[in-house]
Amino acid sequence: MDKDLKNKMPAELEAIVEELGGKKYLAKYIFTFIHSKNVCEISGLSTLSKLFREALTKNGYYISRLKTVEVFTDPDGTEKYLFELPDGCRIETVVLCDGKRRTLCVSTQVGCVMNCAFCATAKLKFQRNLTSAEIADQVNVVEKDTGKINNVVYMGMGEPLQNYDAVLKSVRILNEPNGRNIGLRHLAISTCGKCEEIRKLANEDIHPRLAISLNAATDELRTKLMPINKAEPLAKLISAVRAYQLVTRLRVTFEYVLIKGVNDSKLNAEKLVKLADKIKCNINLIEYNPHSGCPFQASSKETIKRFAKILTAAGIETTIRLKMGQKIKAACGQLGATLLNRNSGKQKKSNQN
Ligand code: SF4
Repeated sequence: MDKDLKNKMPAELEAIVEELGGKKYLAKYIFTFIHSKNVCEISGLSTLSKLFREALTKNGYYISRLKTVEVFTDPDGTEKYLFELPDGCRIETVVLCDGKRRTLCVSTQVGCVMNCAFCATAKLKFQRNLTSAEIADQVNVVEKDTGKINNVVYMGMGEPLQNYDAVLKSVRILNEPNGRNIGLRHLAISTCGKCEEIRKLANEDIHPRLAISLNAATDELRTKLMPINKAEPLAKLISAVRAYQLVTRLRVTFEYVLIKGVNDSKLNAEKLVKLADKIKCNINLIEYNPHSGCPFQASSKETIKRFAKILTAAGIETTIRLKMGQKIKAACGQLGATLLNRNSGKQKKSNQN
């Protein structure tokens, strides 16, 4: 049985408290102390009696914590946290600031098996899923260090819907009024297109915002960029998106990374208009961020503007996400690049020994 109290919702904590002979209401205090006061030791649960704290410890309960290994700061204000998990695995988390609001991009897996052609995380060996505590704790630690986080986007390392249960539970934890109390419209899950899980999410009792990492509007091109498209082609994906919208009535975001000479032509934009037709959506155009080991280049600013113009002329709400955090390899598609460099550095060293 999992004994990490940080992984528990208030109802689960109630059951633990009662089992140990405590009063039910103590569960609420435990949840609040862990998730909004960042208490990481049972001894820090100061509203509980010494005896009760001892009972928790004696029964194997503990509170996990992420270890901050390094914080990188880009001249544009973006920060990247390198965290170490209890088993030594490492993940990255990025804080983006647009002047008013601060958005945290959280990781959900160590590595990723989806193998998207433009992504540095795909080059890392997949090691494991994160727990809901490890996902939520990225918010706890960064907020404690740097202040209020307004939005959380599940767009860091890993495919969130490949780790469905822990991701959804972390959404519940972050949304819980006795904890961080982050509203669902400020929590967004981004997927490369796992259709069955999108439909499953539609049937849950809570609905975070949904973003689809699209990047191409034809199956031929999308399969080249994102292997998942072979098993889950565009028609199937769009049908799952519509099913999500039918239940939630939420606008969906399509993320589109613009890669020079690959998916940035006038024809590509026109095909995207056709695909997005009649879907309540906005399109987020993202400048490609080059990294070693990947042959692609970024589209020029003019090409991006021309592409955006075609979408807006067709009535599609379009935003251009400028490169942020590029110098510290914290930009979209670059997460894991620092870890890759360090791993290859270690490899070179051991080869020399
Ligand atoms: S883009 Fe996302 S889903 Fe694709 S390999 Fe990278 S982390 Fe995985």
